Amino acid sequence: MSIDLSRREFIKASAGAAALAVAGLPAPAPAAEPGVTYGRSQCRFCGTGCTVVAGVRNGRIVSIQGDADSPINEGRVCIKGFSLPHILYGKDRLTRPMVRQAGGGFKAVSWNEALDLVAGTFVDNIRRHGKDSVAWYGSGQNATEEAYAANKLFKGVIGTANLEGNPRLCMSSAVGGYLNTFGTDEPAGTYDDLDETDCFFIIGANMAEQHPMLFRRIVNRKNARPDRVKIVVADPRFTPTARYADLHLKFIPGHDMYLLNAMAQVIVEEELTDPEHLGYVVFQKGLGGKGELISFLAFREFLRAYAPEKVAGLVGVPAGDIRTAARWFGRKGHGTVSLWTMGYNQRTQGVELNCQSHNLHLLTGKIGRPGSDSMSLTGQPNACGGTREQGGLTHLLPAHRLLADPKDRAEIAKIWGYPVEQLPDKPTGAAMNMFARLVGKQIKAIWISTTNPGQTLPNGDFYRNAMREAFTVVSDVYPTRTTEQATVILPSAMWIEKEGTMGQTDRRSQLIPKLLDAPGEARPDFWQIVEVAKRVASKLGRKDLGFTTETQAWDEYRLCSRGQDIDLWGATREKLRMHAGGIQWPCPSTDLENRGSAKRFISKRRAEQVFGHTERRYKTGYVTLYDQHMAEKKIPGDINYYGHDPARAASKDKAVVRVLPARTDFEMPDADYPYVLNTGRVLEHWHSGTVTMRVPMLRAIHPSAYVEVDPDDARKLGVRNGDKLQIESRRGKIALRVWVTDRAQPGMVFVPFFDENALINVLTVDDPKSLSAAGQPDYKVCAVRLKKA
Ligand code: SF4
Repeated sequence: MSIDLSRREFIKASAGAAALAVAGLPAPAPAAEPGVTYGRSQCRFCGTGCTVVAGVRNGRIVSIQGDADSPINEGRVCIKGFSLPHILYGKDRLTRPMVRQAGGGFKAVSWNEALDLVAGTFVDNIRRHGKDSVAWYGSGQNATEEAYAANKLFKGVIGTANLEGNPRLCMSSAVGGYLNTFGTDEPAGTYDDLDETDCFFIIGANMAEQHPMLFRRIVNRKNARPDRVKIVVADPRFTPTARYADLHLKFIPGHDMYLLNAMAQVIVEEELTDPEHLGYVVFQKGLGGKGELISFLAFREFLRAYAPEKVAGLVGVPAGDIRTAARWFGRKGHGTVSLWTMGYNQRTQGVELNCQSHNLHLLTGKIGRPGSDSMSLTGQPNACGGTREQGGLTHLLPAHRLLADPKDRAEIAKIWGYPVEQLPDKPTGAAMNMFARLVGKQIKAIWISTTNPGQTLPNGDFYRNAMREAFTVVSDVYPTRTTEQATVILPSAMWIEKEGTMGQTDRRSQLIPKLLDAPGEARPDFWQIVEVAKRVASKLGRKDLGFTTETQAWDEYRLCSRGQDIDLWGATREKLRMHAGGIQWPCPSTDLENRGSAKRFISKRRAEQVFGHTERRYKTGYVTLYDQHMAEKKIPGDINYYGHDPARAASKDKAVVRVLPARTDFEMPDADYPYVLNTGRVLEHWHSGTVTMRVPMLRAIHPSAYVEVDPDDARKLGVRNGDKLQIESRRGKIALRVWVTDRAQPGMVFVPFFDENALINVLTVDDPKSLSAAGQPDYKVCAVRLKKA
């Protein structure tokens, strides 16, 4: 599709966000235009990872379309994918390194000056205050090679565990859920399960707006089998996703743990369980390895307090609807796929909620087989690849290894070529703790890459001031609320201006090749990290990263992953280039023979055999592929939850149904602050709007933030559409124009966070007790009061 589509046409196409989101924008193969070369790439927005084809002429991108060969999006893209070319050409693109001047303002400097200043200041702080006085804060939008290089620089060359990223704020609760349940991270299933299932249980996710091309597959499945397929959406808001539901469970904010235990109660009481699969699970109280193991009968007893009729009032959903949802979920002989994202993860009880969804699948045996999966959706295009898998958090090492594990540490030190004593042996603190140490001045220098914490951290003002006072380096593509606090700004290349690998929701890795040069002096983050590492290593008298190209870094990372559950050894550059839609790990084989068409999968089954690429885990052991015949015969030992935690010897090779008493979020409404504030995204804007607000068409649709107010509340508050409403929490206040809509519910308002001129995160809660068990902030429930401004 040419990017010359007029604004009028575009906005017309954008009218009715839900409908468009579901349909996607079809993109017929381009007529080969003279002088245009076409290259395969991946959309750099949501965690779906749609495959796209970019047309380039004279060093500029001139067209974009969905890749018809892609098994993910089949030639379509959503509005954000359609807008990809425009994100490169905002007028205020950062093109030169800049350093803050003593009297205020920034001065452009050469790369050498900027890199020397960054390396020199980091080393100076390391010498004067210790290695833990410096830190890295990365992103789920960094390529894996960038994240790997940063990991090696900070944990290897410098030797500090002060390395975190915004995925901590996005999906660490999901990681906690998988680890607590299966002993290993990431989903078992694949996107193809969406085409084969009979029940979608979507909770805490507005897929029609935030994962539109996956939601399109859901609607297609529903349309193909309208009587058989059920869509259940549980969400306090009547979102565009909920409009497609057979059943919308509009629960009262904060009460979904009650809802999920009630569904489990129905499944157990009405014998919708899979008796054979119950042999593959144990029941354990609480989270972690220390809770008491109990029997199925004791679990059944525990659930009695959550019978739908007992909790319906609390949850705000009729008992009959809870029963219907549970019965559809547990239908014998039918598949069920659960899908969720930030509505679960960004919650005080985020890890528990994740576990509860897994519980429902373990009880009913709806996992690891076609059409059934407990699938956490990822928000960002490389939160899985660059952070979860690569090890971009304080407690991790590459390829699902743990920093605190001596064996893991020794293996990585050997691959990296550093003495093992040079690596830190314990984590320092998760993201919010790291920023608290920036406020407390224990951290003196921080490098922030491809993310905008100046706009997105909860209780934001508190941390933004600390960024200004520290030595803060920011690598980004446009000015943001974080670059305005920076000491040094490094202009970055983005998307197809550089090469890098990204990993998405269903254990899928894709390669984004470089197709264009970056403007001005902007350079890839990978190059920036390598150059700083050379200087830091030289000053500290240590070995540098040992690689200078993205391919070299990827090959070293593949080696780190070899033999791990996340085995990417077989995902060579050549093999990644072959696949539209990438490779799903475990992928131990580098064998390329009989590869068939380089453009398209042969049959799925054949592709698995040829490429060693694994669509589903937890069947017949490690990397042995799913075998329908064996599943039908139900051969004992068929399911091996191989990621068990050795500390939980009693649960060896078994998954854990977590026995979890329901609780609500940290800051629930009270007499002083009687409303709930819920924050999130809109279809058209990506995160803090850094790039999408540079796309005139997207900015025209949503130029500024607003507050969704329920019609009854609007009447009570005396406000109408367009009026200003003051929203005040215990941490700050803001006034926004009102949108009266049935999307909201009484007692709750919703505000999107894309607007840099309306910092809603000044209000959100950062109390350490409000974080999930995985350290993730609660952006979905905090208490506010409202009045007409
Ligand atoms: Fe990009 Fe996500 Fe839209 Fe696909 S669904 S085009 S990955 S934003």
